[in-house]
Amino acid sequence: MPLEIITLPCLADNYAYLLHDAKSGRTALVDAPEVAPIKAALAARGWGLDVILLTHHHYDHIDGAEELRETYGAKIYGARADAHRLPPLDHALDPEVSFDLFGEQVAVLDVSGHTIGHIAFYLAESNAAFTADSLMALGCGRLFEGPPDMMWRSLNRLMGLPPQTLIYSGHEYTQANARFAATIEPDNAKLQLRIADIDAKRAKGEATVPALLQLELDTNPFLRAHLGDVKSAIGMEGIESAEVFAEIRGRKDRF
Ligand code: ZN
Ligand code: FE
Repeated sequence: MPLEIITLPCLADNYAYLLHDAKSGRTALVDAPEVAPIKAALAARGWGLDVILLTHHHYDHIDGAEELRETYGAKIYGARADAHRLPPLDHALDPEVSFDLFGEQVAVLDVSGHTIGHIAFYLAESNAAFTADSLMALGCGRLFEGPPDMMWRSLNRLMGLPPQTLIYSGHEYTQANARFAATIEPDNAKLQLRIADIDAKRAKGEATVPALLQLELDTNPFLRAHLGDVKSAIGMEGIESAEVFAEIRGRKDRF
């Protein structure tokens, strides 16, 4: 049975997610930006917290983890490669090795680039991928640690998931990402429709995540660096896709 997924705004513009298994009554959390909104969401539903899944070491994804573990007795899962800079792990995860979460298999994907050791969680049965600061709605994370070709490989890994997968990313950056995306592909009709939808949602204070992978493939400039239309739109016909990706990422950094 698919897990129930709750989107929790945290800090200024972060998202954490609760994954609840109705059958066993158990709950997992993806990333722990802060404690208060997570405790409040659990209390409102009468849920405990059994598992904390961490995507990468940045404070805005891990700061609440230790206190939540102490409060609820939750077990912390994170990348073995990042263990030296994560809270002490109860379960060290390796890329491409799946683990069981309340009876559902979770695939661990190496999506290094934003940081080295950043992982994403893919739950096929729940049709969900938790990508944090790798693939974001209309964007991708800034390259703090890895080179562009590493992030391009990571994004290609995510692009290979089933197109109906819902992408749960780590931040509400979508409106700013949309402004930038329009400078790369001003004539992309699907992008224009999506921007109108994003603006309407934000005007009502609604989250723009999760987003369908297919929609990202159609509109996210960082997933479109291999396409002839995009290469010619930015004057890079015939250039290798990883280099085109690097150029688009560079333009976003200066935007
Ligand atoms: Zn980050
Ligand atoms: Fe972040």
